Amino acid sequence: MTQPAYRGRFAPSPTGPLHFGSLITALGSYLDAKAQGGEWWLRIDDLDPPRVSPGATDAILRALEAYGMAWDGAVQYQRQRGEAYAAALLALQRLGVVYPCACTRREIADSSVGRPGAPIYPGTCRAGLAPGKRARALRIDTRGVNVGIEDRLQGAVTQNLEREAGDFIVQRADGLFAYQLAAVVDDAALGITDIVRGADLLDSTLRQVYLQRMLGLSQPRYLHLPVAINALGEKLSKQTLAPPLDIARPQPALIQALKFLNHPPPQALQGAETQALLAWAVQSWSVARIPNVRSLEPQI
Ligand code: GLU
Repeated sequence: MTQPAYRGRFAPSPTGPLHFGSLITALGSYLDAKAQGGEWWLRIDDLDPPRVSPGATDAILRALEAYGMAWDGAVQYQRQRGEAYAAALLALQRLGVVYPCACTRREIADSSVGRPGAPIYPGTCRAGLAPGKRARALRIDTRGVNVGIEDRLQGAVTQNLEREAGDFIVQRADGLFAYQLAAVVDDAALGITDIVRGADLLDSTLRQVYLQRMLGLSQPRYLHLPVAINALGEKLSKQTLAPPLDIARPQPALIQALKFLNHPPPQALQGAETQALLAWAVQSWSVARIPNVRSLEPQI
């Protein structure tokens, strides 16, 4: 596969239909790719079967079509990529940076040094399992690890992984590979050069950068968009009951998403077709115009 100068992707989890929050990510990643003459691929993150909602993948594909965002290449599915994830895990194990962990959620919550609800694993099992304990998950050792990115919108973001994230899971207690590992393996396999997604994933990005480093993979460029929040400061999501995108009338949400990204279409385009709006947005795209904040409440 010849490597284009820009290959981006949108990677929704099929836990439900797309909503306004996911439209921001889809649109931001699409416009950034197309404004640079790049490719925009679609990956369905269906790694976690219990979280996959029946019909969601189909609904996502239909919504992207209705909103005029055509993807390049074949749709990628994480559920088909188990062998690649297993190979990456083996490579990490050979480096000696992965260890089995017997701790339950409750034990971690009780001994954690992090915020309530976002516990930081204190490294209990690093030196081996306590007698009689059974390995559950596999974790990666983050001792002394500092990571950082120069985000195209958010600027420099750095983290001491050991203190601020803790040794994170690469294979879960139920045997599933962790999203962090899967995302890194897939982005590298597809030759993704640019990742544009919500700023709620910044913490994940820093973990992923460490995995890239350990696996000898090249680091893509990153752009973390503001996340759409409601008046209570909660991220728009299925959990906060964000309504699914209207597939029959895409223009209103598309215009609202462009406004959110501070690219309001000119008056002459009010009432224009989806394709005309998108063509204008590709022409007008400028990262410097996007608010460089991590979250933002849409103006209605
Ligand atoms: N599928 C994940 C999500 O929707 C991750 C996306 C990504 O890696 O950009 O939050």
